[in-house]
Amino acid sequence: MPQKIFCEDCNEPLYNNSELTSLEEIIRKYDGKCPKCGKKLVFNTKKIEIKVLKK
Ligand SMILES: [Zn+2]
Repeated sequence: MPQKIFCEDCNEPLYNNSELTSLEEIIRKYDGKCPKCGKKLVFNTKKIEIKVLKK
């Protein structure tokens, strides 16, 4: 199932991919900030559900 993550401030899509990854990887990819509005990325796992595949 595709996962989508949006910046909670500007709704910039930060992640839109069928591959599952971890929050840490996404935050690292964007250097900890939203590429659009510069908001520090702190994902609340209560708001955003992400499933991570574990091998
Ligand atoms: Zn943003």
